[in-house]
Amino acid sequence: MNRRAFLKSANLAGLAIALPSSTFAAEEKKAIPANTSSNPNTILLKDYRPRSIYKVPVTHIEKAKFPIIDMHSHPYPKTEAEISNWLKNMDEVNVEKTMVLTMTAGKEFDGICAKYSRYPDRFEVWCGLDFSGHNTPGFPDGAVQELARCHDAGAKGIGEIHDKGKGLRSGKSTAPGIHPDDPRVDAIWEKAAELHMPVSLHVADPIWMYQPMDRHNDGLMNAYEWRLDNQPNIVKLPGMIEILERTASRHRKTTFVACHFANLDYDLAHLGEVFDRNPNLYADISARYAETAPIPRFAAQFYAKYSDRLVYGTDMGFDTKMYRITFRILESQDEHFYETEQFGYHWPLYGLGLSDEILEHVYRGNAARLLAARSS
Ligand SMILES: [Zn+2]
Repeated sequence: MNRRAFLKSANLAGLAIALPSSTFAAEEKKAIPANTSSNPNTILLKDYRPRSIYKVPVTHIEKAKFPIIDMHSHPYPKTEAEISNWLKNMDEVNVEKTMVLTMTAGKEFDGICAKYSRYPDRFEVWCGLDFSGHNTPGFPDGAVQELARCHDAGAKGIGEIHDKGKGLRSGKSTAPGIHPDDPRVDAIWEKAAELHMPVSLHVADPIWMYQPMDRHNDGLMNAYEWRLDNQPNIVKLPGMIEILERTASRHRKTTFVACHFANLDYDLAHLGEVFDRNPNLYADISARYAETAPIPRFAAQFYAKYSDRLVYGTDMGFDTKMYRITFRILESQDEHFYETEQFGYHWPLYGLGLSDEILEHVYRGNAARLLAARSS
């Protein structure tokens, strides 16, 4: 069956699984100790570790099919030796360049910048924002000045800036109650455009964190650990998407890269509408592999339609094994496999089998175009 026929025959409505996540930096990820009980009445959901029974093709992809620009990573290595190890891993799996989202400003940024500046062809260092003056009348002048200073010190972009509903955060620096569409931060996004710095912006969190923590919650285990349902005064996911759209439309000259499919991996059609309305918006696919792999046909259709707006990202450390799992999900047509340790979930995954053209765009082409636009 050719690809088109294959997609046509897909029963999209029947694929409502969805799930897992590792929204979080690899260093924060906890290994889940498995209870090895064999009594079905006492095995807990969090300990469930099924093994696939199917004799189906298994694809081992050592190296990505095309060179990669990784748009979402963090300064995981603490030593020079670890940075060398990261470079070796990047070479092994075909990652040409990695964006190191430091989320820091000031001296902390300068320190990280110094470590990576030796490898200008392999790493870009992006700065965070300094929100320390957010409740003073001078805000955001100080933040804008510090942004310009970081730019002069080598920052090529801004990120990762979070707003999970309580207000802006850049690493440890917070601006409670100030969301990205707030006029008080207009000058920051305008400065970003002037300096040709793209902004990596994380809004909201996976949908199941906002839903009741009960037996119907599709992502119960991760959701429970990072729950938001018990926090009454936060802007919820739909509200955060509206904020993202208002921000992108207020600042058309600024390029925004929404992290993790803008957390609309559960409603890709909605993300498509957001893309249609906002030409200055991209999304990275980092840390949402386990959420999109359960819906391979619909996800692949989405990749095909928006192949010029999605950029590759990881956000999960720098093991070769981690990179290879992402290749298997994007490139192969493997079925019903588990990556419980990587994603902390036990739902089966399916390869998306993306075409060469789409892979080339997502792995490298879109990011290269976005980054090159800075010098024009
Ligand atoms: Zn991240």
